[in-house]
Amino acid sequence: MKAEATSVGASINQALVKGTCPVCGILKDFQRTLVETTRPQPDLRLCNFHGWAMARSRGKLSRSTPGETVTNVFLEMLKKPLAGKVSSDGCSLCHRVLEEELARLRELAQKLQATMFARWMKTQGTLCLDHAEKVKEFVPLRLRTTVDEVVERNRAELQEELETFREHLRHGIHEGGGLLGRAAEFLVGQRGL
Ligand SMILES: [Zn+2]
Ligand SMILES: [Zn+2]
Repeated sequence: MKAEATSVGASINQALVKGTCPVCGILKDFQRTLVETTRPQPDLRLCNFHGWAMARSRGKLSRSTPGETVTNVFLEMLKKPLAGKVSSDGCSLCHRVLEEELARLRELAQKLQATMFARWMKTQGTLCLDHAEKVKEFVPLRLRTTVDEVVERNRAELQEELETFREHLRHGIHEGGGLLGRAAEFLVGQRGL
């Protein structure tokens, strides 16, 4: 339990990259690993997104022949009473991602209690709208204002950068497309989450 808490702490720190939401970053990695390491198990249910993610993954992290693990997962699913298509509410992998999200939100909320960290987030940190709203449920009232300030600065910066980007596009300069990905992440969270 203790070791787990330590590794969790290290990860939020590692995910603190300017311009991207740390919770989104962690969940994206977590989800990729989850898909690549899922083993055949009783009662495994997959939503549309995770079913296809499994089909594409070919079990990269496993030691078996590429594709063997996923093949076994699908075989086991075919042999059991068929569940049909399930929504994310019934998906085993969506559940795991949700648990991880909750743990990371709690961890971030805990870190925000430290003045230095809160100051860093206020001046340089990034949060997507979704995780900003969610983390507010885990922090005391005064820190909700801090989270709002992070969001407002992110919004203003993105707006300014997009306006500059649009100007550049009008002059035929197309570099800086990564900005559109950052705008998407801010508005709707990381792709596939
Ligand atoms: Zn996020
Ligand atoms: Zn799912």
